[in-house]
Amino acid sequence: MPAPLALAPNGVPDLTTYDVLAPQLSGGKDSAPMMAEFMTAARAAGVTDRVISYHSSLTVLEWPEIVFEGIRYPSVSELAALQSAAFGVPPDRHVEVTRTMPGPDGSPIPRSLLTEIAAYGRFPRMGSPYCRKFAKEGVVSMHWTPIVHRLGRELGRPVRILKIMGLRSAEGPDRRKRPPYQRVLTNSARVVDEWLPIKDWSTDAVKEWHTSAPVPYCWTYDSVPGAGDWLGTSRCSCSLCVFASKPDVLLALGRRPRLAALYAEVEQVRGDSFCADWRITDLLRHAESCGAPDPGVVCPDDGPEFTALEDQVRAALKKEPRKEPELARGSGRALCDGCTAHS
Ligand code: SF4
Repeated sequence: MPAPLALAPNGVPDLTTYDVLAPQLSGGKDSAPMMAEFMTAARAAGVTDRVISYHSSLTVLEWPEIVFEGIRYPSVSELAALQSAAFGVPPDRHVEVTRTMPGPDGSPIPRSLLTEIAAYGRFPRMGSPYCRKFAKEGVVSMHWTPIVHRLGRELGRPVRILKIMGLRSAEGPDRRKRPPYQRVLTNSARVVDEWLPIKDWSTDAVKEWHTSAPVPYCWTYDSVPGAGDWLGTSRCSCSLCVFASKPDVLLALGRRPRLAALYAEVEQVRGDSFCADWRITDLLRHAESCGAPDPGVVCPDDGPEFTALEDQVRAALKKEPRKEPELARGSGRALCDGCTAHS
């Protein structure tokens, strides 16, 4: 079990005791205030030279850049880099990482989370959220390995790493239970602690912070890009997140219809459902028959990266799944009885 650690009275860990300070920037609305709080503390402790910021890219699955009414709005990956730079991290100390696999010529190409889901045969669930380890934590941890080897040799002791994240209690019961400062890994080579500087911030406080922020927030939070009304999706990472609310997924289906169809294909071939209680396939049917929220904007998803994703996912679906699918508890076919998807 991870061990909770004691914060100083000002709510900040002793940052001078770490060799690497590693803020994890998802590019979402919480990453920017987290980065602001953390960098203020790092400057006060005189340790900004130990900062390396990370974005675990979900590539085509995360919200892409979009042009709306002649204005270009950045992708989630671009936003993560902007969040890092806005608070003083030099560009060469911001690292975008992603899971890879050997391409046709042997050189590494991105291996998407949806390909992994197709190959595994089951979607992630609350009890086994393997997507986070596959697409995020595991990828950053692998990137630390050469740093740990080099620094470990120089220091002659395990390398101390602090992971800084923008998770907040208001996001759900699992996050409420998470200590604001805890040890998450210890072995002979590395000790990894985790600090959540904005754990107690409310969602309203985050939105208020953004009214005078030095970086924009992702366009998907609004009803249409640039509206500034926070009437879009409530979260932003994978456009279609298995843990998202139904209203968020319904909106995402409208904004990324080609991506939604690919998720539905995985459901149909593997016989598992996107969520424990409902399927994308039924949500799409529901949207057709009962109507869906106005997406405001539709991503074309017609570039070579999207075609490569389709090819990769379909190739994985042609093979036997690594895990037998477990059919969902509810089929989702009751969605149209009273349009509960909009609640
Ligand atoms: S956004 Fe959702 S589906 Fe994507 S990696 Fe995170 S938890 Fe998993």
